[in-house]
Amino acid sequence: MNSSARALISLITLWIIRILFIHSLIVLAGCSGVSREDSLLKDPARQAERDRMVDEEIIPQGIKDPKILAAVRHVPRHKFVPSDYSDLAYYDIPLPIGHGQTISQPSLVALMTEALALEGAKRVLEIGTGSGYQSAVLAEIVPEVFTIEIVEPLATKAAHTLAELGYRNIHARVGDGYRGWPEEAPFDAIIVTAAPDHVPQPLLDQLAVGGRLILPVGRDYQTLELHYRTAKGFERKIITLVRFVPLVRERQQE
Ligand code: SAH
Repeated sequence: MNSSARALISLITLWIIRILFIHSLIVLAGCSGVSREDSLLKDPARQAERDRMVDEEIIPQGIKDPKILAAVRHVPRHKFVPSDYSDLAYYDIPLPIGHGQTISQPSLVALMTEALALEGAKRVLEIGTGSGYQSAVLAEIVPEVFTIEIVEPLATKAAHTLAELGYRNIHARVGDGYRGWPEEAPFDAIIVTAAPDHVPQPLLDQLAVGGRLILPVGRDYQTLELHYRTAKGFERKIITLVRFVPLVRERQQE
């Protein structure tokens, strides 16, 4: 066989390989398209995606409380994020919710909720309603949740989402959460999901004896702090480093 025949054969072989490769890509794309549509049709509530996220991304990070894992398996996070991000709702990442704010990654929601040790807790206050996702997770675990949001359109949207999902045990209001909700105090637990640069005294004051406050404290990066109220006073534990949006004060909004 002369060299031009050999060149022709290798050219034909290359083409065959190329056609087979493109064909297999088309088949793969077709398969995944069909199976995704199928899975959405079979599972419009996206339960399988939530279960995958819990099993592969949340449990491996050390979250153990069965009530919290059950809540994350149940709350439809895709309803709390803008539709553009719906496909990303069941990955353990923070997502934008508009007005420069973000919904935390689910493992951080779970970690903060677990640190509150909610066994026996009846009333929990959240500062920073945002999308309402954290409120929903809390409402799956405790009888009454109180939540405050400073950005009115976010508060309205969250209230709508939570009502649509049937949560009746979440009381929401618009305002500066720095001051807490004195009319409803004391609380068994308080969770702050925006970062102040110091611990707000009104929140410590509104904590029941035996209660816990969790919050990020600092400017660009923050320490996630847990404050316990004992009969004698307060104790503090630093949990980890985190990054939250800043807690803004009401006067800055005016
Ligand atoms: N927990 C939310 C995410 C919170 S993002 C969720 O699950 O989606 C932080 C939120 O805190 C933002 O919506 C922001 O507007 C709000 N926020 C900032 N400062 C606040 C303040 N002083 N009082 C109440 N809410 C505040």
